[in-house]
Amino acid sequence: MHKDFYKTGRERLIAQLRSAGISDERVLGAIATIPREKFVPDAIKSRAYEDTALPIGNHQTISQPYTVAFMTSALNIKPGDSVLEIGTGSGYQAATLIMLGAKVFTVERHWELYNSAKKTLDELGLSAQSRFGDGTIGWSEFAPYDAIIVTAGAPELPQSLLLQLAIGGRMIIPVGDERSQTLKYVVRKDDREFDAFDMQEFRFVPLIGKEGWTVG
Ligand code: SAM
Repeated sequence: MHKDFYKTGRERLIAQLRSAGISDERVLGAIATIPREKFVPDAIKSRAYEDTALPIGNHQTISQPYTVAFMTSALNIKPGDSVLEIGTGSGYQAATLIMLGAKVFTVERHWELYNSAKKTLDELGLSAQSRFGDGTIGWSEFAPYDAIIVTAGAPELPQSLLLQLAIGGRMIIPVGDERSQTLKYVVRKDDREFDAFDMQEFRFVPLIGKEGWTVG
């Protein structure tokens, strides 16, 4: 595929995100820079700039760009923020966070996806700490985090993740049943208290693990 094909696609995608209500210029700037075609399988690279989720293997998906933009904007990432992502998938969401200057820690439970995302990020010169394993229990070694983003649908708020938030830290996580989830925005007020707000409805693949869904 010619380079200009992707460039035009990226420009069209940015226009679509703007008309869908995404207004955070830093997030739009990151999405305008990241080559999404590098994060999708060869066979569907021509579809990389459709505003849609796409299959990445292991029955998983790279999230829809609108979803990435919405969640990233809501987290209001500042350069230097320490951010834990659960569900690395293709690595695209991690790349977006890195472009905003975050120190990114990302966890994936599928070995193939863990490896290919790590390789893609390395090839693009984007630096993240990646871990293979169950992200529902977080990554205590590097806690507390200024922000946590969960990119798979949980049955409820995982306690371990709440406890790995810094005071004043925020978490965005889809919670619901397997068909649809409400995006929840949680802020840690102090040691014991959390505020939680409901945002939009989305549909994610399930968060599977100790504090998520059990494998079916
Ligand atoms: N953020 C990804 C991206 O940018 O491509 C999209 C994520 S995809 C919608 C959800 C991912 O969460 C899948 O790759 C899935 O394997 C992963 N996942 C599900 N449960 C998990 C868990 N307990 N720990 C880590 N990853 C998990």
